[in-house]
Amino acid sequence: MTNYSDNKYFELFETQKANQYHIGNTTYKARIKKLKALKFALERTYKNAIEEALYQDFKKPKVETGLTEIYLVVKEIKYAISNLRSWLSDQRVSTPLTLLGTSSYIRYEPKGVCLIISPWNYPVNLTFGPLVSAIAAGNTVILKPSEMTPNTSAVMAKIVKDVFSENEVALVEGEVEVSQELLKLPFNHIFFTGSPTVGKIIMSAASKHLSSVTLELGGKSPTIIHESVDLKAAMKNIVWGKYLNNGQTCIAPDYVFVHESIKDEFIEAFKAKALEYYSEDPKTSESYSRVVNEKHFNRLVASIENAKEQKATIELGGDYDEASNYIAPTLISNLPEEATLLAEEIFGPILPIKTYKAIDEVIDYINSKEKPLALYIYARRKRVINRILKSTRAGSTCINSNALQYSNHHLPFGGSNNSGIGKAHGFFGFQEFTNARSVLKRHFPGPLYLLFPPYNRFKEKITKAAIKWF
Ligand code: NAD
Repeated sequence: MTNYSDNKYFELFETQKANQYHIGNTTYKARIKKLKALKFALERTYKNAIEEALYQDFKKPKVETGLTEIYLVVKEIKYAISNLRSWLSDQRVSTPLTLLGTSSYIRYEPKGVCLIISPWNYPVNLTFGPLVSAIAAGNTVILKPSEMTPNTSAVMAKIVKDVFSENEVALVEGEVEVSQELLKLPFNHIFFTGSPTVGKIIMSAASKHLSSVTLELGGKSPTIIHESVDLKAAMKNIVWGKYLNNGQTCIAPDYVFVHESIKDEFIEAFKAKALEYYSEDPKTSESYSRVVNEKHFNRLVASIENAKEQKATIELGGDYDEASNYIAPTLISNLPEEATLLAEEIFGPILPIKTYKAIDEVIDYINSKEKPLALYIYARRKRVINRILKSTRAGSTCINSNALQYSNHHLPFGGSNNSGIGKAHGFFGFQEFTNARSVLKRHFPGPLYLLFPPYNRFKEKITKAAIKWF
């Protein structure tokens, strides 16, 4: 076995490893107590500190912090608390006739020592959300949040120190090198949220120890606007879903596919709604956050400039201010296919429009790309909705809305292949952090005993009958 004693986090890892059976054998009541302590820290003790930190990090409005960072984690906690007893009880399964004399059940046992690596865009939600599932499942956890939102990471470090002991949950702050060092350790499970590029690095590191992985990744999420759409209702969701968190949302509409007959109408309605939400001068709007840092600001500005060079039409916005990482809510049409905005995940407040004549074009285009994390359909015609659902693949879909699928904890959340492996939220998140252990108990000798060696013609005949009848 490899020796990791020179790893910077070896001691922390070993402390958690030594404690894993103790934590793994805690009762559902003890786990609920921990979840309640985390809930209290989020909604009471540290609520203001979280709001302030996120405002400092990228001017995130209080309402958005409340809704997308605190509320969603608190809801995840409440859901786990209500269901934990049943999730932890042995799940009886049926017994086939040939196994008469036995009974079987599934026991969800903790994976052990887990690593959670989170991104910067919803730092509290995407660090503590998976943590809720990990605690519910009875694991010990090391958390590594993103270096790009340092104020929020510092508050989260305080919360973790306050609520947990280090041999149970610990948070390590720092640059990418911290993740790289942690990834050398033989974790039992790694839950990663971030880009597909880094996801591949995580999976490769995990393969060294055959650590299981959950990869919550990203990519381009298409939004289809069919000509049967209720444009007024659609606009409320699309403009909100796109500019929430300044477009830095993994499931934000990345680009829209609008039927050519309603393109102008779409643009006018979009501009009117953006004006209503963020005013004529979005720079002064307290509802509009900022790009997280200079690196991402420069990347996004380069994509706008690239669009201009390609003679695309800036329908809305397009202006920016380097001093405050501000980019106006932007809508761009007439982009050539090779434009950066159509080639890479945008992850910022810019929305490209593509037009189409027949729905087949849209389906072919989407299927020629990686499977999206989310695919949105705005249409009133049922036949069209079903057609798109049947002919495409995606991690999730909203019909006549966007982003809301994330907040229903009865639904699994995650991608497929390039957009992710595994699912988060509710029972699906709990499952991700557990091993479904099969247990079969023998009570008395059953019919199978008749077929034990030595074999003969009679046993051959019984086997044939079993294949045919049971
Ligand atoms: P990222 O992949 O750059 O970084 C994510 C985390 O990985 C950070 O904590 C970072 O420190 C760490 N990291 C970065 N490079 C690393 C390396 N070489 N080795 C080890 N660790 C490394 O992603 P990001 O910029 O923080 O977030 C944006 C991406 O995340 C987008 O692609 C977005 O779609 C995706 N995302 C997905 C979800 C989801 O739930 N599916 C949610 C939010 C964001």
